[in-house]
Amino acid sequence: MSKSVSCILITGANGGLGLGIAKYFLEHDSSCFVYLGVRTNRDHAESVVSDYPDRCATLTLDVTSESAWKQAVTEVEASGRKVTVLVNNAGNHDDHLLATMPKSSWDQVIDTNLNAAFMGSQAVIRGMMTERFGRIINIASLSALLAPMGQTNYAAAKAGVVAMTQSLAKEVARMGITVNALCPGYIETSALDHMSADQAKALKKSIPMRRFGRASEVASAVFFLANADAAYITGSTLKIDGGIF
Ligand code: NDP
Repeated sequence: MSKSVSCILITGANGGLGLGIAKYFLEHDSSCFVYLGVRTNRDHAESVVSDYPDRCATLTLDVTSESAWKQAVTEVEASGRKVTVLVNNAGNHDDHLLATMPKSSWDQVIDTNLNAAFMGSQAVIRGMMTERFGRIINIASLSALLAPMGQTNYAAAKAGVVAMTQSLAKEVARMGITVNALCPGYIETSALDHMSADQAKALKKSIPMRRFGRASEVASAVFFLANADAAYITGSTLKIDGGIF
């Protein structure tokens, strides 16, 4: 990497993708500091911290709470750092057909996937403006572009993330800040645990590459977009899906 990203905050970093992104940065950029945003579960994130004790830390951050965002950014600044790269990665899905979807499911999925990306971006954007440098990378989903049945909440949230990415990218383009979205297809993490072996086998048959993706294959795209050399890429949506469409 030609210029260090210096300080990266990854939300949902105890999960498969967040953890993969954290490890990728730690392995490929020896000068960056990584904050692993965690909510209740933190065992995987803590084990990364024990592997790289001087180069990363966990940060308690429920992404649906505005006050938690403020507190997290204050904690980063108190340590003498500024978030130069934010990866809005935390997310979840709760699939139901719309006819029977509880309103609470709709609200919770919109809160975790879309409102959180808004609050996170707002929490760091002024600091990035002051620095005239920043990278916001939003983990959306292929569901934003190719919405499956049963995911009206999740698909709407992730499509909202893509639209938010494009709008914000325009707002901050002149300030050295880029904002991009990634749309992973099926990536091997606990998010796919609900699938039976037969379902997974059938699904792989429908993917041109005949396999699910690896967290490192999403992480490498995050790493690329975070690079100072990716300065002219903003408002983009990159799908990472083994060629699904
Ligand atoms: P995981 O379920 O492995 O991880 C999700 C992480 O998000 C967990 O660490 C979870 O924390 C965290 N999280 C959920 N809600 C909150 C919250 N309110 N505040 C803070 N953290 C929260 O899933 P993935 O790693 O696979 O998913 C990461 C992102 O990638 C998500 O946005 C997902 O939608 C997206 N994605 C994943 C795909 C896949 O195939 N894996 C495909 C397309 C998109 P906790 O452990 O405390 O619950």
